[in-house]
Amino acid sequence: MAPKYKLAWWSVAAVLVVLLGGGVWLNKDAGEDRVTTSKLVVGASVFPVADMVKQVGGDLIEVVLVVPPGFSPHAYSLLPSQVAELQSAAVIFSIGQGFDDGVVRPVSDSAGIEIVTLDNGIELRKLGDGFDNYEEGDEAGFGEIDPHYWLDVKNARVMVRVIAEELARIDAGQADKYMENAARYEQRLDELEDELQQQATKLDQPAILTLHDGWGYFARAYGLRVVDTYEPVEGKQPTVEDLRRIKTTIDEYGVKKFYTEPQKSSTAATRFMREEFGLEIGILDPVGGGEGAKSYEELMKKNIEAISK
Ligand SMILES: [Zn+2]
Repeated sequence: MAPKYKLAWWSVAAVLVVLLGGGVWLNKDAGEDRVTTSKLVVGASVFPVADMVKQVGGDLIEVVLVVPPGFSPHAYSLLPSQVAELQSAAVIFSIGQGFDDGVVRPVSDSAGIEIVTLDNGIELRKLGDGFDNYEEGDEAGFGEIDPHYWLDVKNARVMVRVIAEELARIDAGQADKYMENAARYEQRLDELEDELQQQATKLDQPAILTLHDGWGYFARAYGLRVVDTYEPVEGKQPTVEDLRRIKTTIDEYGVKKFYTEPQKSSTAATRFMREEFGLEIGILDPVGGGEGAKSYEELMKKNIEAISK
């Protein structure tokens, strides 16, 4: 469509936001002494995205998080209340590449809300890259794009730029403010990256084994190598053949620790890795939002610490 159409669309959205904001205000107790201004409502698929959007939007926006902390976007269905909340969103920011598309697309389709993925300008990794005991082509999904790119702070910086430019486009009157917030946040991300790199130099376990193939970007950024994963494909249990290959990899690389994830049930995996293969168990958190990971920055620090132990 021509940009003219888009412009008209956004003005309608802006009016709707004002109306909805006003409606909320009218329902409040008149005696309450608070100033309510209508904010731009913005959707964010998962916690790290929501935090980045909040950092850029500050108090100019209200962020609606789609997948609550503790849930995996691979297996989450929206509640009707969330669909209602998202109706007023001007845009939904998401990771894309098959990670959260299934959750955000139905809302976008039904309410006509634009989805902006944050992978633009990021050097994407392929699934299975770095696993040399895999037979090329023997796993479904092998060789497809790995969507977990936010687990490298350098990529987060790129994502923040995309968010800032998009918010500035939608809410042009506040463009300077969004750009200012983004610049300040980028500076913090640079400091975070320095800190993580410094810790990475002290790591003494370059080869790691994870629950699923979600740590390739993290590993590449911080000098580690994921040599194999328990799940051959996200959400799938390993076959006997897979377990045999994992055992070979553990011996070959001298792997000592297996990393599970808080969003997934991994009782079988941890028991097997501990009891059969004698590995220690650690936790890597790809999404955060819970205890000790209340921001993207905390999440990244928590993960490097989990590796450092
Ligand atoms: Zn994943």
